[in-house]
Amino acid sequence: DLPPPVYKRVLLKISGEALMGDQNYGIDLKTAERVASEVKQAVNSGVEVCLVIGGGNIFRGLSAAAKGMDRAAADYMGMLATVMNALGMQTALERIGVQTRVQSAIPMTSICEPYIRRRAIRHMEKGRVVIFAAGTGNPFFTTDTAAALRAAEMGCDALFKGTQVDGVYSDDPRKNPDAERYDQLDYLEVLSRDLKVMDAAAVTLMRENAIPIVVFSIHDKGGLARVLSGQGVCTVIG
Ligand code: UDP
Repeated sequence: DLPPPVYKRVLLKISGEALMGDQNYGIDLKTAERVASEVKQAVNSGVEVCLVIGGGNIFRGLSAAAKGMDRAAADYMGMLATVMNALGMQTALERIGVQTRVQSAIPMTSICEPYIRRRAIRHMEKGRVVIFAAGTGNPFFTTDTAAALRAAEMGCDALFKGTQVDGVYSDDPRKNPDAERYDQLDYLEVLSRDLKVMDAAAVTLMRENAIPIVVFSIHDKGGLARVLSGQGVCTVIG
């Protein structure tokens, strides 16, 4: 039994890779369902949740541009990849009884709602999970920045970044056993030491709006709910 959550509304950002499972491409439905069950626990505890999912498991604009593709076109393809992931997560969530709405920054009205800020807030107030797709809708940006932007627009109490490890470390903990996990970090420290948590634009936006970034492991069962009630393992950037 966990104490009541310390956050009322949060945005959860997960990378596309978090949905890959053991594959090296695409969406593994079992993995998506596991992530979905984390979200369900959070919603059941009374927290309002919205999601931004990356697209790196399907398409990354920068990699395609490096091979000679037009950068803007490549980025639009990357944004389309996030729409696929959003629909995958929607399926996974609704399969376990969580109500969702997908809103795309690039209107695609045959498959989801267009992004409408006040409507998204209303969905969350009704207990629905809103999945924001297509990033910011602009090339040259990332889904990290999209997550920060939506977190600010939605008036979230925190931006939760679900990663492969349970926080920010002084070095890669999977390679260096002496790497130390930080409990707390300052925004400026993350920027000046170039700690690879989220890109600088996202960190700056969170700093300007005084919204903490909570870095935790998306693969620890029950981890999201624990961190939401102030008991889990994580790094808080604030
Ligand atoms: N993208 C973009 N604008 C945005 C968000 C995403 O152009 O606002 C494109 C960009 O090409 C990026 C791709 O979508 O490489 C997938 O997103 P990202 O790499 O952030 O996904 P993640 O690494 O989180 O899986």
